[in-house]
Amino acid sequence: MTYEQLLDRAFSQLPGLSEEKVDFKIPQADVMIQGNKTMVRNIAQIADVARRSKEEIAKYLTKELAAPVTFDNQNLIVLTKIQSGTLNEKIKRFFELYIICKECHKPDTHVQMIDRGYTTIVCEACGAKYTVKNS
Ligand SMILES: [Zn+2]
Repeated sequence: MTYEQLLDRAFSQLPGLSEEKVDFKIPQADVMIQGNKTMVRNIAQIADVARRSKEEIAKYLTKELAAPVTFDNQNLIVLTKIQSGTLNEKIKRFFELYIICKECHKPDTHVQMIDRGYTTIVCEACGAKYTVKNS
């Protein structure tokens, strides 16, 4: 088998997968329920991957979970009981809405402007610009 044939075979075994989509994984929240509070112990890491501030994620979660969110050292604390699965669904949605570019699916975006309930997102990888209605 020639090198080209080997390449063809390698690619044919990966139908429709682009490297970027495979490489980027939405981080999982490390969730711990303590009494009536829910702690996210790796919020710093999630914020780092998202390249957004912890406060921005906290603000989003406050609205989505309809519960007050605060910080205790390195932890994000939701002042109610939230199951790990529910919290991770919200984090996933946050990434899908505000972090991952709708055009090229890379997470290299930043917020350009927040105005009247809309967030304008700009992608640094492909230059796409779009607005997302804030929840
Ligand atoms: Zn893009």
